[in-house]
Amino acid sequence: MRFVDPCPVVCPGCGKESRYPPRELVALSSICHHCSTSLESVGREMRAGLSSWSAHLAKMNMAVELERVFGIEASDADLEQIKVPVDFVRFIRNRAGVAASSKDVDSEVLAALTRTRQTTANISDLKVAFEALFPVAEHP
Ligand SMILES: [Zn+2]
Repeated sequence: MRFVDPCPVVCPGCGKESRYPPRELVALSSICHHCSTSLESVGREMRAGLSSWSAHLAKMNMAVELERVFGIEASDADLEQIKVPVDFVRFIRNRAGVAASSKDVDSEVLAALTRTRQTTANISDLKVAFEALFPVAEHP
């Protein structure tokens, strides 16, 4: 996800539009060119957008890996319901039934998380929200 650079922003203080570097907005350091109101709230919204985008990409990545392993395809609606990695475990168990033992599903989901994060993950990470597992740097 990329923001337009410079990014048009309507000041919450004076209502005038101006263009700002997205990097400064996301760093929460921009102030309105007209009235000097802090544009921090705009930057926070942009951060939230980046963070949910990063979480979404991570989830898609894991879905593709798990689809390869279990042959179960997750629809967009299914992915909407998946908020933490352990939701993948439930989802696969529900679909695969007795074919997949719970241990296999746990370890495959953990392996997919580890590969997607490109760092080690442990079993407690399965209960952490994707937004928290895939945080966005403060200064992208
Ligand atoms: Zn202003």
